[in-house]
Amino acid sequence: MSDTKTEIKIEIVRCNDCLKELPLTKDNFYICKGKFKKTRCKPCKRIKTKLYYTKNKKKIIEYSKNYQKEYIKRPYVRERINKKNRAERALIKKLMKFKHLLTETQ
Ligand SMILES: [Zn+2]
Repeated sequence: MSDTKTEIKIEIVRCNDCLKELPLTKDNFYICKGKFKKTRCKPCKRIKTKLYYTKNKKKIIEYSKNYQKEYIKRPYVRERINKKNRAERALIKKLMKFKHLLTETQ
């Protein structure tokens, strides 16, 4: 008889930044889309993100602003917005008609 079935082996992963060897658990590593992010341990990832943000704050803000601008420019997004606006206008038209009918009957 062997115990291999009951034994749960936890993978040991080395962080690329601090080079620490850590067991692959959700306490040590982040999970993204159901998979462990093995490249960096949690503390390192946090530091990295913070550092990146402080270093590139302006860029990130600028980028998200531009993204919004560019996003709206995309033809399919425009089409979607136009569609929505058309639908809203149609609805308002309908409501106006209804209002008109209401005032007439009053
Ligand atoms: Zn690390």
